[in-house]
Amino acid sequence: MMINRKQRIFAFIAAMVLGIVILGALTFISLGAEHECNGAGCHVCEMIKQCKKLVAMVGGAAPGCLIFIAALRILKDILQDIATSIRSDTLISMKVELLD
Ligand SMILES: [Zn+2]
Repeated sequence: MMINRKQRIFAFIAAMVLGIVILGALTFISLGAEHECNGAGCHVCEMIKQCKKLVAMVGGAAPGCLIFIAALRILKDILQDIATSIRSDTLISMKVELLD
């Protein structure tokens, strides 16, 4: 199954968005762990609870890191494709001598 450039770019964007959301949730959980809690109805505690649900739903931190690594791999492939398409051999770059 061949994956074309558009599909790779879409996969890269989707992986980056998912990875950013997961890492953002983990960052909020770690930063909000030592907040000054107001007790019942604390907005920070409610947000932490939502972030924990999100991370549990996606599967934890390790898949988030793997998603980032996969996204970087996809980005590398995209950049290699672009570099290959830009770098085209011309008669001048191949130093072909045209004689009439
Ligand atoms: Zn709180």
